[in-house]
Amino acid sequence: MSGEGQGPRAEGSAADIARDESRQQDPRPSSLVSGPASADPLVIRRLEFLGGMAQAGGWRPEPTLPEVAFAGRSNVGKSALLNRLVRRKALARVSKTPGRTREINFFGVNDQFVLADLPGYGYARISKDRKAGWWSLIERYLRESSQLRGVVQLVDARHDPSDEDLLMFDFLADLGAPTLVVATKVDKLRRADVAARVGALADALGVDAEQTIPFSAVTGQGRDELAAAIIALVDTPPWRHS
Ligand code: GDP
Repeated sequence: MSGEGQGPRAEGSAADIARDESRQQDPRPSSLVSGPASADPLVIRRLEFLGGMAQAGGWRPEPTLPEVAFAGRSNVGKSALLNRLVRRKALARVSKTPGRTREINFFGVNDQFVLADLPGYGYARISKDRKAGWWSLIERYLRESSQLRGVVQLVDARHDPSDEDLLMFDFLADLGAPTLVVATKVDKLRRADVAARVGALADALGVDAEQTIPFSAVTGQGRDELAAAIIALVDTPPWRHS
């Protein structure tokens, strides 16, 4: 660690996660959790806030576990999606804490992998300097993280990708990073329109519609599909070394 001092702080949010954890632990005997009775591809047994990376090259958790990063413009529904994914409210509460919204926040899941919640983009009015700092934080994290297995890129199902979505997507393609596309807030579309919208989004991004997961944090649609896709990424060696 470089000692930038941006690691876990003792107060509030981490304790919230611990409380959520004890309240929401799966009550079934462990023999049932992994057996055929469980259709859940990602049963959360342990969730831990590891800390935040505030600047390029600053503190980050030791890269011992596989990492999956989550990217998207601000307000795309990333916090709601992460809460749904891990079935906790506390996770996104950490990332929304003042002072943490511009950091990369790391969460350990089941001592199995690490979620890296990247700061949202799309702040039209922030200064060029801050934008540059934000981008170098994300760029260096994505370029240099030896355990990164892939990126989950969120786009709002109702809108065409923004210029920043396209820039991020191109960057990930250049990097060669495996990328899952998630179309968020599909509950806001008419059911009959979902397939066509997801197809149009996939076209705009140049990916197969089958690679794009329709998701709703309100109904839970897509949660298990996303969880299974993430587990598949985590179980694959880092693309940079394969
Ligand atoms: P973030 O800035 O990307 O973390 O976005 P949030 O998760 O905070 O969501 C932004 C807004 O969209 C909030 O008002 C959420 O309640 C809403 N939202 C997020 N996900 C969904 C969803 O799947 N369906 C609907 N209807 N609203 C959502």
